Amino acid sequence: MSSNQKTRSRFLKVKCNDCGNEQVIFGCASSPIKCIVCEKMLAVPTGGKTQVKTEILEVLDKNI
Ligand SMILES: [Zn+2]
Repeated sequence: MSSNQKTRSRFLKVKCNDCGNEQVIFGCASSPIKCIVCEKMLAVPTGGKTQVKTEILEVLDKNI
């Protein structure tokens, strides 16, 4: 069955596993997101959803 989740403006606070940098990324990004410090790939888009490849510290729900 297909999941029918609404895509909201959701931000994730993540921590880079390599350098320990913390940054906020967009949870529905359409392009890969890299660490701003070491350029490690932090998240990749997979069919409209973002697959986070590092540690998620916090989920920030914002109504924009
Ligand atoms: Zn990093």
